[in-house]
Amino acid sequence: MSTPANARLMDGSGLARRLVEETAARAADLTRRTGARPCLATVLVGEDPASVTYVRMKRARCEKAGIRSRHVELPATTTTEELVATLRALSEDPDVHGILLQHPVGRHIDERAAFEAIAPEKDVDGVTTSSFAAMSFGLPGFVSCTPGGIMRLLDAYDVDPAGKRAVVVGRSAILGKPAGMLLLARNATVTYCHSYTPADDLSAAVREADIVVAAVGRARFIKGEDVKPGAVVVDAGYNEGNVGDVDFDAAAERAGLITPVPGGVGPMTIATLLAQTVDAAERQLGTATA
Ligand code: NAP
Repeated sequence: MSTPANARLMDGSGLARRLVEETAARAADLTRRTGARPCLATVLVGEDPASVTYVRMKRARCEKAGIRSRHVELPATTTTEELVATLRALSEDPDVHGILLQHPVGRHIDERAAFEAIAPEKDVDGVTTSSFAAMSFGLPGFVSCTPGGIMRLLDAYDVDPAGKRAVVVGRSAILGKPAGMLLLARNATVTYCHSYTPADDLSAAVREADIVVAAVGRARFIKGEDVKPGAVVVDAGYNEGNVGDVDFDAAAERAGLITPVPGGVGPMTIATLLAQTVDAAERQLGTATA
C-alpha cells in the first residue's frame, strides 16, 4: 500500500485506540461504582485455527480494557442442543454481561438456533434477529460489530450519509446486510450488490455512489476506475496478503476518503465489541444497583 495520491486516509487504528481507551475508562468507573467487572463470555466450538486466533485476540483486548473474559471451549462434536443449552445458561448468568459465539460453528450445527439462544440484552455481537430488527427500525439495541465500526468511522470523519447514494457490495448477515441497514437508518439511498448482480450493473452502481462499502471477500474486487471522484470508500474486506476488496492505489487516486487495509475497518470491529460489552454491563449493573 503506497501513499494515496488524492484521498485522505480514514485511520481506523487510531480511532479504535481512542474508543478502547474510553471503553477502558468506563469499565474502570463501573467496577469502582459496583465492585463488578464487565464480563464477556466467548464461546468457541471446535479448533478452527482462524477462530482460535480471533477469540484469543478478542480476549486479550478485553483484559487490556479491564473487561473480564470467560472462555467456553466446546468440542467440534457439540450438538445444536448442547450449544443452545450453553448459550442459555450464559444468558441467565448474572455475572456475564455480553456473549460472543465465534462463527463458524460447524456445518452440523444450526447456527441460527444457537444465535437465538443469546439473550438480546447480552447480544453484544449483534447476531440475534431481535438485534437485527431493532437495528432496522432504528431502535436501541446492539449492532453487528463490523458495520457498527464502519458507522463510527464515518461519524469520526464527519461523513453524514443523509441524502447520499451508498452502495454496499456484499450482503452477508454479519456485514453487508446490516451495513446497508445502518446507512438506510441514517437516510442514505442504499443499493446492495451481491453475487447475482451482473458485473456491469455493479460497476454502474459504484460509479454513482458517494459512499462505497466493500464487503465481498475478493482481493481488489472494486476497481479504482469505478470510484466516483470524491467518494468515501470503506473497505471491510480482508484477503490473503493483507489485501482489501478495493484496488486501493487506483481507488485512492479518485476517492475523497478511503480506509486502508489493514488499519481501517478491522480494528474498529473489536473496539465496537468492547464498547458494546461495557454498554451491556452498564445497563445490567445499573439496573441491579438502582
Ligand atoms: P461472506 O459471508 O462470504 O459474504 C460475501 C458477500 O459477497 C456475499 O453477500 C456474496 O453474495 C457477495 N459476493 C460474492 N461474490 C460476489 C460478486 N462477484 N459480486 C458481488 N458480490 C459478491 O463474507 P463476509 O463475512 O461478509 O466478509 C466479507 C469480507 O469482509 C471478507 O474479506 C472478510 O474477511 C471481511 N470481514 C472483515 C471483518 C473485519 O472486522 N474487518 C469482519 C468480517 C468480515 P451472495 O450473498 O449472493 O452470496
